[in-house]
Amino acid sequence: MLRVSFASAAAPGRANEDYVLAGHSWVVLLDGATPAPGVDAGCDHGVPWLVRTLAAALVPGLEGGAPLPEALEAAITATMAAHGGSCDLAAPGSPSATVALARRRGDLLDYLVLCDSPVALWRRDGRVTVVRDDRLDQLPGGRPYSLELVNAMRNRPGGFWVAGACPRAAREALSGAVPVRELRGAALFTDGVTRLAEWYGRAWESLVAGAAEPERLLAEVREQELARGVPRGKLHDDATAAWVSFPPG
Ligand SMILES: [Zn+2]
Repeated sequence: MLRVSFASAAAPGRANEDYVLAGHSWVVLLDGATPAPGVDAGCDHGVPWLVRTLAAALVPGLEGGAPLPEALEAAITATMAAHGGSCDLAAPGSPSATVALARRRGDLLDYLVLCDSPVALWRRDGRVTVVRDDRLDQLPGGRPYSLELVNAMRNRPGGFWVAGACPRAAREALSGAVPVRELRGAALFTDGVTRLAEWYGRAWESLVAGAAEPERLLAEVREQELARGVPRGKLHDDATAAWVSFPPG
């Protein structure tokens, strides 16, 4: 058995570009990348379309037992086809998304992380292992990044990888499996929530412990943003937290 609970809140006044989809044995969380103003997206479908299309395209692989990187690679390929022939998938602002995945497979929990939506594994002994893909934090020269740099390093060796128009990105994801008996549960977050740890000093252990009530975490994010501001970027971002646990039976 797998129990999943989640909450997702758009940045106030905007469409939510985060997305969550769950089945009986899995959950996927995606965070669509908002194109910078004036950058050619090459596509009228938009980011909300991209995240829900990609999530739906994961279902056959997840249900069929494919290894998670294979399931993601097939989903990216299917999503590229779903654009139809009229979109320019090589455009610099072509829609893309992060991916955080967890799937129970018998006695194991499979996980996968691509870009900055981590999976945190809460072990029975209280330790938390954060599976975090920090390649977007490691671009040459450090932040702030120019638009040209981000465009040049997206889905390139030595740069960072996202799910959008490059199937190979799936093979660059971090993935693995952990015995369910070792876990209290697992939490999946978009970066709209991990700012609680990364910017506002909340311990990962406490963040993960709070994920079982995801709507409370989201409320805390908004309180902190208003009280303390942000070191960079938008004051509010879409924020999503999902909690996976294993009830007996
Ligand atoms: Zn398109």
